[in-house]
Amino acid sequence: LRSIEIIGGGLSGLALGIGLRKRGIPVQVREAGSYPRHKVCGEFICGVSQKTLQTLGIYELFESAPFYRKSRWFRGNDVLLDQELKTGAWGISRYRMDEWLQEYFQSLGGHLITRERVKPEAREGLVWSAGRIPQSDSKWLGLKVHMRGYQMYSELEMHMGRQGYAGLVQVEDDWINLCGLFEKRRQVEGKYIALLESYLRLCGLTHLADVMAESEVRDGSFCAVAGFDLGVQNVDDGRLVIGDAESMIPPFTGNGMSMAFESAETALSYLCEYAQGRLTWEKCRINVARALKKRFRTRLVTAGSCHPFLLSSAGQSALSIASRTKLLPFNTLFTLTH
Ligand SMILES: Cc1cc2nc3c(=O)[nH]c(=O)nc-3n(C[C@H](O)[C@H](O)[C@H](O)COP(=O)(O)OP(=O)(O)OC[C@H]3O[C@@H](n4cnc5c(N)ncnc54)[C@H](O)[C@@H]3O)c2cc1C
Repeated sequence: LRSIEIIGGGLSGLALGIGLRKRGIPVQVREAGSYPRHKVCGEFICGVSQKTLQTLGIYELFESAPFYRKSRWFRGNDVLLDQELKTGAWGISRYRMDEWLQEYFQSLGGHLITRERVKPEAREGLVWSAGRIPQSDSKWLGLKVHMRGYQMYSELEMHMGRQGYAGLVQVEDDWINLCGLFEKRRQVEGKYIALLESYLRLCGLTHLADVMAESEVRDGSFCAVAGFDLGVQNVDDGRLVIGDAESMIPPFTGNGMSMAFESAETALSYLCEYAQGRLTWEKCRINVARALKKRFRTRLVTAGSCHPFLLSSAGQSALSIASRTKLLPFNTLFTLTH
């Protein structure tokens, strides 16, 4: 069997590694960081099917995880909408999930190298799953922290503010993950948690900022990410890419992690054919790229069109009116974005 090398041991890379090991294919994963580690992420996983998780061989991780259906959407400090999520969503921290995946991968005989940052490279047998493609002129900033002591109004909360929004979900040991996506602003002061608090206040999410200031904060859980663009990443240098490196859906959908798993699932079948010598590398790469484009096109377009509405005052007013008059096609939009 031909072996596979995976760059990036996040969700897509490790899930793919596990799927390949389950089929007896030799795999090496090279990861820039180490485990366990916190990561900027809303930590609610929405829309991934049991079939995808079983194909990859990772369903076990989800069996014992909290599963939520109820969501409440706020505009500033006001309630906009209470809505059941059709597919439901799991709440698992990245601290737990990435750790579990890397241990499982290694227990299956996968070879993991940590603390090694690899330069972008297109080579036969190499899969690039190293997350966001760095963009120097990006306008986005993602911030997150785990806190304890906040009494949630619903199982999942989404708070929309001016040029930013934040989501909350409970993960392990009563910790609540608070994660926000903000348009970067020059005048914002503060470091670490104070920076998150400043952004929440600037966006008009004062209630959340007050709650955060009064809550217990989990040591080491604050993290930040910048320098990324949402949507298709347009990597055209011959790399086989999956996960965020292929495309990034706006975070409000809670579907990015599902897409990471789904892209691993899509790549798995073609990579198995390659490993068995039934497909050339070039054909394998092209097939994966085409299949991912087809699988994700509708949700990326729909989510990309909705995103500006969630961030602008006029868009939020329109949503507010549509919600009050029961004209908001929430379930249709949910289906199109998952
Ligand atoms: C603010 C924000 C909130 C989000 N909220 C949610 C949510 O609630 N639900 C949801 O489903 N999704 C959410 N997402 C999206 C989700 O986090 C990603 O879609 C998901 O992590 C993608 O997985 P991945 O494996 O492609 O990349 P990652 O999980 O980012 O993994 C990439 C890995 O590659 C490593 N790496 C990077 N560069 C190199 C290199 N050069 N060499 C070696 N290793 C490298 C990194 O250290 C990392 O471990 C959110 C994203 C953001 C920005």
